[in-house]
Amino acid sequence: MLNKIDHLGIAVKSLAEAVPYYEKALGLKCGRLEEVPSQKVRTAFFACGDVHLELLEPTDPESPIAKFLEKNPAGGIHHIAFGTDDVEAQLRQAAGAGVRLIHEKPFDGAGGKLVAFLHPKSTFGVLTEFCMPKPGADGH
Ligand code: ZN
Repeated sequence: MLNKIDHLGIAVKSLAEAVPYYEKALGLKCGRLEEVPSQKVRTAFFACGDVHLELLEPTDPESPIAKFLEKNPAGGIHHIAFGTDDVEAQLRQAAGAGVRLIHEKPFDGAGGKLVAFLHPKSTFGVLTEFCMPKPGADGH
């Protein structure tokens, strides 16, 4: 079951340029900077109540975020991530409903979470992530 909107993924060309906007103009606090090799990105997380913003900067031209920025040079909202207690069950449910999956199995995402994505061609244009704390990890 999906139980919350965990975070919004936002593509940026440069964390160094974008982070001050979120800190100074919006007054949010950057909680964590992290490199995620599986997605070839560097991320900065901001908490806003229960929802996080995940800024994503590509570390490689082959990064999915680099490809997104080619089409959207100003950056923008890249994905929505739903929290769940069972990513694989959500993938099975979506696949059973005819949705195309990008990932058949969850993999290691940012923040010690297991994540997987649905294909935006099947989700009315919204790249959709499921995420859950990795079993055995404390989720922080
Ligand atoms: Zn995400």
